[in-house]
Amino acid sequence: MEKDEIAPHVKEIARVLNGKVEESKIEEELENYLNVYRVSLDTAKRSVVKNFGGDPNALTRGNRRKVSDVKGGEQNVDLLVRVLTLNPKEVEIKGEKRQLAYGLVADETGSMGYTLWEPQRLLFKPGDVIMLRNAYSKEYNGRVDLNLGNRANVEQMPKDALPQIDAPAGGSYAPGETVKVGELADGMNNVTVSGRIVTVERREINTEDGAKVVFSGILADETGKVQYSAWADYQLKEGELVRISRAYVKGWKGVPKLNFGERAGVVRLKAEDLPEVTSGKPKPRSIEDIERVGGATDALVIGTIVDVKEGSGLIKRCPQCKRVVLKGACRIHGKVEGIWDLRVKAILDDGNSTLAVVMNRTVTETVLGQKLEDCVKRAQEALNPDVVREMVEEKILAKPMQVRGNVLSDEYGLMMIVSEASAVETDLKEAAVAMLAELEGFQ
Ligand SMILES: [Zn+2]
Repeated sequence: MEKDEIAPHVKEIARVLNGKVEESKIEEELENYLNVYRVSLDTAKRSVVKNFGGDPNALTRGNRRKVSDVKGGEQNVDLLVRVLTLNPKEVEIKGEKRQLAYGLVADETGSMGYTLWEPQRLLFKPGDVIMLRNAYSKEYNGRVDLNLGNRANVEQMPKDALPQIDAPAGGSYAPGETVKVGELADGMNNVTVSGRIVTVERREINTEDGAKVVFSGILADETGKVQYSAWADYQLKEGELVRISRAYVKGWKGVPKLNFGERAGVVRLKAEDLPEVTSGKPKPRSIEDIERVGGATDALVIGTIVDVKEGSGLIKRCPQCKRVVLKGACRIHGKVEGIWDLRVKAILDDGNSTLAVVMNRTVTETVLGQKLEDCVKRAQEALNPDVVREMVEEKILAKPMQVRGNVLSDEYGLMMIVSEASAVETDLKEAAVAMLAELEGFQ
């Protein structure tokens, strides 16, 4: 190993040893391990640290990441970034004044905020390209920030180690990626998205720092809908068109959710800026398209029911826990007098992919054109609750349907909680197929 190759490792060991051992001594020892004992670099570094009484676990584990991949709560994060801003800050911690710094760093995938806890020890300035090691990330108000604590270290890198990242004039952020609602996926950071505020609701929630107000609702564009949470008051109004920048996506059961906080940008748009966005019913989406992002809010899917699952039709539920009662007994509460309910579990196929669909009592009643009470009567007359499942099959099996609802995902795949279901008329189906073809061709 050449001298300049070994230098950053010497510096790293010196950092782990808190500067108690001279770098020339470390270098000598490290070279000894590498050239005489011929052990791997990792083993050599750990041995040197141990020999000088340090903690080998404080060495970098090489968890090299890109900015857009960093999620909250990660340890040992290594990032190659350009420093965009650096702002000194004085804070009082337990009555003691302390100097910190905060700012933004970026790579080609996006930018993120950081807090530097020891600005005297880790030196860098805006414009520098640096290798950050052993940082940790925290999520706060829907934003992921980087922390450079006492284990972090920084190495200056050549300026051309990263492509030039342009911060917008007057702002301190690198431009984010502009995406459509239908493309939002869990883990995205620093995205820009435009659409209509369909609903907005003010809620108060309790956090570690006391009560906090959050504004949440649905945002829609021509490709779909997404639930959002605004962690600052942007005076959002129902029906208005907005462009939100520096937002961040978090998934819940696969359903992407948009978050944006105090550092986001919200710009009002005119109708002519977003001619494609209509406020009406969602346009149909292909199952593959939803699979790509893991889930969807209020999606419309058209396909054919290819299977009606066991447990569809008339069922009984435990009055205490609502679990399905089998042979007169609840799995938790034993023998109970169950309450009648209706549901459908089925598989929808849109020609390219399949989707599990679950319909509750209300949707099932609409599909059957009969109320729960009528179904109970039918079953009692026939002395067999299975007649209701047969009725369901008759109505939907092998029939083209359009279903609408939230689509979740887990290890078994996608599942729609259906809020509306109806048969597709032939001419409507053709129109829908044409619309889907158009949408797919568009992508
Ligand atoms: Zn029960």
